[in-house]
Amino acid sequence: PADPGSPYRVVLLGASGVGKTAFASIFGGAADSMESDDCELCADEVCEREIEVDGEPATVSLLDTWDVETDSEWAREHFLQTADAFLLLYSVTDRASFLRASELRITLRRFRPAHRTPIILVGNKCDLVRRREVSVSEGRACAAVFDCKFIETSAAMQHNVWEAFHGIVRQLRLRRDPK
Ligand code: GDP
Repeated sequence: PADPGSPYRVVLLGASGVGKTAFASIFGGAADSMESDDCELCADEVCEREIEVDGEPATVSLLDTWDVETDSEWAREHFLQTADAFLLLYSVTDRASFLRASELRITLRRFRPAHRTPIILVGNKCDLVRRREVSVSEGRACAAVFDCKFIETSAAMQHNVWEAFHGIVRQLRLRRDPK
């Protein structure tokens, strides 16, 4: 069997309330009883599991408890410097969270200037059509400016969440063994 290799460390970033916990529980299998045994280290902070992307296994360590509003400067730097990739979440129903995502993108750039760290800008809660405050085209334009990928998701509907995780693994693979 193919070797999944050392884990990719992926961090969920974003303002509070955007859906980071919901993402992490989908990743960890909480919302999928068939796969709930797959998550090995489901402490609050890190969930490590093997997932299959494009027919090849990959091990992903998901760090989900980095609370940007409250955690210490040390924790912030530690996460920013040790992560391999970021899912930068905002809620399409909350313009402030979209602005927060921009700020976080700038912070990331400051900490990781030399690296082309994979980042996907994720507009979550796209199921809440009537409460939308950020349009798809604004999200896409923001990602273009930030030179990162973009996806809209609904953790509530389990729509595109796995696509976001798979997308980040694809980008990490391109970086790790460029072909
Ligand atoms: P966190 O603070 O970023 O970890 O956000 P949570 O995952 O705790 O989500 C905050 C609230 O938004 C919770 O009540 C979730 O159930 C809800 N939520 C998260 N994702 C979605 C989504 O895609 N659609 C809807 N309608 N609600 C969501």
